[in-house]
Amino acid sequence: MADTKYIFVTGGVVSSLGKGIVAASLGKLLQARGYNVTIQKFDPYINIDPGTLNPYEHGECYVTDDGHEADLDLGHYERFLNIATSRANNITTGRIYQNVIQKERRGDYLGKTVQVVPHITDEIKRNVKLLGQKHQFDFVITEIGGTVGDIESLPFLESVRQLKWELKQNCVVVHLTYVPFISAAKEVKTKPTQHSVKMLQEVGIQPDMLVLRTEHPLSEDILSKVALFCNVTKESVVQSVDVPTIYEVPLVLQRQGMDKTILEKVGLEAGPTPELKQWKEFLEKMHSAKETVNIGLVGKYVELQDAYKSIDESLMQAAIYNHRKLNLVSVQSDKINENNAAELLKDFDAVVIAPGFGSRGVEGKLCALKYTRENNIPTLGICLGMQCMVIEFARNVLGNTGANTTEINPNAAFKVIDLMEEQKTVTDLGGSMRLGGYDCSLNPDSHLAKIYGSDFIHERHRHRFEFNSQYRKDFEAHGMHCVGENPDTGLVEAVEIEGHRWFIGVQFHPEYNSTVVRPHPLFMDFIREAIAVHNEKKK
Ligand code: GLN
Repeated sequence: MADTKYIFVTGGVVSSLGKGIVAASLGKLLQARGYNVTIQKFDPYINIDPGTLNPYEHGECYVTDDGHEADLDLGHYERFLNIATSRANNITTGRIYQNVIQKERRGDYLGKTVQVVPHITDEIKRNVKLLGQKHQFDFVITEIGGTVGDIESLPFLESVRQLKWELKQNCVVVHLTYVPFISAAKEVKTKPTQHSVKMLQEVGIQPDMLVLRTEHPLSEDILSKVALFCNVTKESVVQSVDVPTIYEVPLVLQRQGMDKTILEKVGLEAGPTPELKQWKEFLEKMHSAKETVNIGLVGKYVELQDAYKSIDESLMQAAIYNHRKLNLVSVQSDKINENNAAELLKDFDAVVIAPGFGSRGVEGKLCALKYTRENNIPTLGICLGMQCMVIEFARNVLGNTGANTTEINPNAAFKVIDLMEEQKTVTDLGGSMRLGGYDCSLNPDSHLAKIYGSDFIHERHRHRFEFNSQYRKDFEAHGMHCVGENPDTGLVEAVEIEGHRWFIGVQFHPEYNSTVVRPHPLFMDFIREAIAVHNEKKK
């Protein structure tokens, strides 16, 4: 097999340009040509992983099947490429330093002074190459978080510079920049791009390709000008103009031959351009959908566009495969109370109760659930959402008004959601939850087993608290059935209530398992039921 090729994606001018989407799109294009591709993200912050960050910092925390709390870009990689990523796909400065310091303590450096160069950079380089060597990928795309010019990115860029020398033709650097439109002058400006490329050159890196993010289409002249000033050929400058959906980006880049240019640079035969048939069909469905489906998402981070990224994408994929436009409305959980729940939720065809941590908004989620349960509105509770389903049912059906999760009230009279025994001694917050993929046996007669078409599933988790099995019989007797169970521990993983058209709570996160070409059955069925409600309302 040929050597693994390494592609680095860096960013300049401003943050939030969508490096992750460009990396995922490029990965998609190479994968469509039959190459085995993976993508990794290097984040320059000192946190060991984003697990301890709140969503205001970096949006949703994604979880890999091997139990790593990861940057949300890994979600894009998985959704675009339909591959699984792992702990090795997301590295932070914190992890690099932790490894180096551990080695130093073990005496691995044999009395040497341990320095940023070469020890930190060597550790970065080792991690860059790890996936390629271990799994023999044809392409490893590495997205470097942050913006060129940040102090924190320097060791990563220095590692890229060294790797460019070592890997020679097997290494390509793609730099993503921003070309602003100055409305007063009615002109686009390439100077920030030129400066950003200069900054890369100052640290010894000549980018091989440039992707220009822009709100307005750029002329050939502008692209040629950038090529001239930035030391690259004209074919090596492509533009990524704003498109209605991120899933268009692979097509935008393919039209400009970006994947072909990359293949030429690494000395591979390009061959015919792949059709991307399934991908285009998905987009076609998206664009041709006329009717909508209205979903309410009850959570506490409504103002944050990335806080529930994977849930949003999973619902959107399911809506598209059901030929609907998704009208997803966030409802701030802490604004919901007994008096306004009906008013706030009555227009939705179905409701999702979001995951979360801490007490803010929980009482609102309980009011929302009381309303959807009593009014036969399809409801999906995810993680904390399921835990709230259990609490609401305990309070209003079992009559245990003191029911709660011990996360909120450690002295609750009925601890229907409680800490697992092994969690009781945990003091560190980082990486210490029940994380990653676990098997789950489903009751073969359950609604869930019908939806999955199987009574044995595997889904990802991220939580500390669990359904308290002490009360299981009570719940079952009153119609809330514990239909999913961990086969090894007996922990309850899913509940549903009888007599309701669609009321399912899952302790796991199905949203981490839905991709563009493989929409998740649970979201598919949820949307189907929402559409049924929508149609009934219309009649
Ligand atoms: N806070 C809850 C727990 O830790 C739920 C977590 C979640 O929704 N991801 O168990």
